[in-house]
Amino acid sequence: MSNTILRVEKLKKSFELSNGFFEKKKTIQAVSDVSFEIQKGETFSLVGESGCGKSTTGRLISRLLEPTEGSIWIDGMEVSNKKESQLKQMRQSVQMIFQDPYASLNPRMKVKEIIAEPLTIHTNLSTSERQKKVLEILEVVGLSEYHSERYAHEFSGGQRQRIGIARALIMKPQLIIADEPVSALDVSIQSQILNLLKDLQREYGISYLFISHDLSVVEHISDNIGVMYLGAIVESGPKDTVFANPQHPYTKALLSSVPVANPRLRKEKIILKGDIPSPKNPPSGCTFHTRCPFAMDICKKEKPKRQQLQEENHFASCHLLDQ
Ligand code: SF4
Repeated sequence: MSNTILRVEKLKKSFELSNGFFEKKKTIQAVSDVSFEIQKGETFSLVGESGCGKSTTGRLISRLLEPTEGSIWIDGMEVSNKKESQLKQMRQSVQMIFQDPYASLNPRMKVKEIIAEPLTIHTNLSTSERQKKVLEILEVVGLSEYHSERYAHEFSGGQRQRIGIARALIMKPQLIIADEPVSALDVSIQSQILNLLKDLQREYGISYLFISHDLSVVEHISDNIGVMYLGAIVESGPKDTVFANPQHPYTKALLSSVPVANPRLRKEKIILKGDIPSPKNPPSGCTFHTRCPFAMDICKKEKPKRQQLQEENHFASCHLLDQ
């Protein structure tokens, strides 16, 4: 039996944008080339600046969005070509956690109703059976029966995220897509939530697709990472390898701004010029060439190929690797 819980191949998503009746529609390539795998019980993180397509990738995998091209396999089953009516099993085994749990928690429902909602939709359990499961799962995420009778607005940000995690967990998912789950929280609360996610992974063997712009957070939780720039993964590999030996100039720039505890290990910060270009009009060749400190003539003309590097499963796309 395969150990791969998620395989994504050449995923693409474009949106048509209209600026008015008389203007021609523009196509935005939000995700242009994304391929990766997640093994059971592991965490793969997608990192990159805001607007790089990492959240869109998460939404494509959970089928909140329809892919334009490419394949998504969950536990050996291709789901990218399935209709909504055929996705029942997938909807149970893949759950999402969002950045702002408050926005996704119904303010008119008690916590026990919010957490039980997936059970009401997907199972035939009786009210008392659902109630029992809700109390069990509240305990797992560090809340209690007392909290089950309250409403979302009565909780702090960290507690709300625990409620969001409980709702995701209640269906015993194999894969959780966590989209910036701690970026709205204070640093001390962030580490509590990250530790909770890691404990749940150890206990239940859950796999995570973790989406974040924050490399310090990603370093704490990931087994493997994919660095995204303008809709494509430009470098991927085991977290320790990528952090110790980044090969793509964009990864190097991102890592140079991660704070280090030991001042003697302080790295020189690489400042990138300009903003991330618009996906409406992406640069030719290597899409990073407008900001890359090492850009050469070829970078403006030719898209670099994805290359396997010395360490196992370490890949990057950059013309510098040909030299
Ligand atoms: Fe920089 Fe060229 Fe490498 Fe792109 S291909 S990252 S522009 S050196």
